[in-house]
Amino acid sequence: MSIISLQPFGDVDFSILCYLREELSKKLSAECKIGKQVDLPEKAFDPSRKQYRSTMFLDQLKTLLPDKTLKGLAVVDVDLYVPRLSFVFGEAEVEGKHAVISLFRLHPQYYGQPQDIEIYQKRILKEAVHEIGHTIGLGHCSDSRCVMHFSNSIEDTDCKRESFCSNCLDYLVEESEEAKF
Ligand code: ZN
Ligand code: ZN
Repeated sequence: MSIISLQPFGDVDFSILCYLREELSKKLSAECKIGKQVDLPEKAFDPSRKQYRSTMFLDQLKTLLPDKTLKGLAVVDVDLYVPRLSFVFGEAEVEGKHAVISLFRLHPQYYGQPQDIEIYQKRILKEAVHEIGHTIGLGHCSDSRCVMHFSNSIEDTDCKRESFCSNCLDYLVEESEEAKF
């Protein structure tokens, strides 16, 4: 069975990791494991932006994943960026193995809203499935309800579902038939 490893960096709510483990294993028919929490990489922090560079988490993941891991997903609760964008919800290697998601901008409180665990969990699941979708080889989808639609803002994330549209699903079925996933 395929193994997805969830790797927390820094403080990450353990109940969220358990939620992801359960939902991702159902959704992707994979065994899902939670790695031991490690420190945030200090060199990834940009003091002027007060954000962490997301690509560095992908590099760190490579040294941490247990054998037989098919996909590794870093989970962080700090704000992430890539140089050309003000922030990112996550990043992934397309047709690769490593991905990262940030919970930081998924908290309803970030937008001045009251805490709502259901909304918060759904957002996390969508971003996790989205980034893992990239590692399987999917690009961005034009269907705004598809989980592979690009999220520019939290409204985009809330608009999409946590599942794949039929086109993206067809691609995944073909990939799994080739036993890549
Ligand atoms: Zn994307
Ligand atoms: Zn799609």
